[in-house]
Amino acid sequence: MQQPLGSQDAAAEVSVVIPLYNEEGNVRPLYEELVRALAGLGRPWEVCFVDDGSRDGTWDQLLDVAGDDSRVILVRFSRNFGQTTALAAGIRSTTGRIIVTLDGDLQNNPADIPRLLDVLERGYDVVHGRRQRRQDSFWTRRLPSLAANWLIRRVTGTEVRDLGCALRVMRRELAERLELIGEMHRFIPVMADSLGALSVEIDVQHRPRSSGRTKYGLGRTFRVLRDLAVLASLSRGRRTPMSRFSGSAVASGLLGIGLMFCGIVGIAGSAAARTAFLLAGEIAWFSSVAMWNLGLLAEHLVRGSGWEKNALPLYRIVAPGSESVRSAVSPQISPMDSGRSAAPPAVIPFLQAKTAHSPSFQKSPESQSACMGTRP
Ligand code: UDP
Ligand code: MG
Repeated sequence: MQQPLGSQDAAAEVSVVIPLYNEEGNVRPLYEELVRALAGLGRPWEVCFVDDGSRDGTWDQLLDVAGDDSRVILVRFSRNFGQTTALAAGIRSTTGRIIVTLDGDLQNNPADIPRLLDVLERGYDVVHGRRQRRQDSFWTRRLPSLAANWLIRRVTGTEVRDLGCALRVMRRELAERLELIGEMHRFIPVMADSLGALSVEIDVQHRPRSSGRTKYGLGRTFRVLRDLAVLASLSRGRRTPMSRFSGSAVASGLLGIGLMFCGIVGIAGSAAARTAFLLAGEIAWFSSVAMWNLGLLAEHLVRGSGWEKNALPLYRIVAPGSESVRSAVSPQISPMDSGRSAAPPAVIPFLQAKTAHSPSFQKSPESQSACMGTRP
């Protein structure tokens, strides 16, 4: 087996993360294409395959390729947790300063990776792939996707046109701050924008699936719409929830006072009309109090959760009088740091069968359940 630039001693600079669910026929060809594509990079790399609870021979295939190559890291979920969770686990299980993500079904072409990396080095935080001549069925995949992309662009203001392309490269500072929960991998460009990342989208190849089946059908259109609604509402009022409630609370309160005043001074003649004004005024007044208290409660929740500690955008430190500019996350608040030291999350019981560059890795059953959680 070809020995690396990314040799066992060199820390990987580029970490490729690939989620796999029932992709047994794709593992070996994908691995070989990756090795060919990354051979000329000139920097050490590693690839993390995350088996998302496959029920076919994917895991055996992965063990087979990992046994040959110390640059391969394997992570295994005990059941199917979904592509987003698999991506999150892969990112945590690697160490490179640059993260590359792509699908494990060979629809993305690993040969595009060096070009994306070159563009990233021009100063971007993330380079998204845009699939040229997408090789999926028009009615069930491309058309819904066109509509969803259009809607997401309208609602979120992102300029990325192909939100469904999994092939992208990004800096670790960014990758570790993405909130990869639920099925949010489709909104990575939007999350990156909201963190202030410098992003660009470039054309990449797309190929038909040659083995295995897609894991998504038309049902995902509904889930995309649901996630979009959640994301749009979160991004508007998340940092200061009170600001979302206070306007309506004050307006409703003023309306209530106005209506009650009309009822008391008798702007409307009949007793029934006065009662109606008073009643409507009370409802508006109580709604106002309820909204105000909801805002306070949300404010308590946000502050108590410590979420705002990670709410700083990505930023760059420019040393005065020096040319050097670097992307930075403050050490105190870096999720990268907290991720390293924190205990593995109980909800993601992924098995990590092998750490990077572990020459002693054996394909024995014991080694397959080596440890739980993130890489030290
Ligand atoms: N995938 C995964 N977990 C899932 C669904 C999909 O890890 O629950 C992986 C899948 O094996 C593939 C990638 O995510 O590597 C994209 O999935 P798929 O090709 O089915 O999506 P499509 O290209 O059809 O949108
Ligand atoms: Mg695919």
